[in-house]
Amino acid sequence: MAKKLTKKELKEYRDILIERRNMLTGTIDSIGVAYSSRGGERDSASGDEADLGSESIAQEFALSLLQNESNVVQKIDDALRRTESGEFGECEECEEPIAKERLRAIPWTKCCVECQRKAEML
Ligand SMILES: [Zn+2]
Repeated sequence: MAKKLTKKELKEYRDILIERRNMLTGTIDSIGVAYSSRGGERDSASGDEADLGSESIAQEFALSLLQNESNVVQKIDDALRRTESGEFGECEECEEPIAKERLRAIPWTKCCVECQRKAEML
């Protein structure tokens, strides 16, 4: 078993998590605003079929982006909770410490590279 994260390391990851969260919630807000203002414009526009088509694709894209990012925000919240409870940095599956490089890249991850690989093979 590798040793647990130090307080300093934990704080470092917390900072990254909070920073990413702020970034993401900022993006979500701007997508939300763009989405609702576009919806308003469409009401007043005279129904051009071609325009409506590309419009809805753009909206679908914005929505899936939004969904994806809300997902990450949830994972970040979860990870922040784990920094409080002391479970952060530990693989949920095998309980081994998660590699630091991995935590730096995806600090909200819940499992180690090995378990992730196994999960993806399923
Ligand atoms: Zn694992």
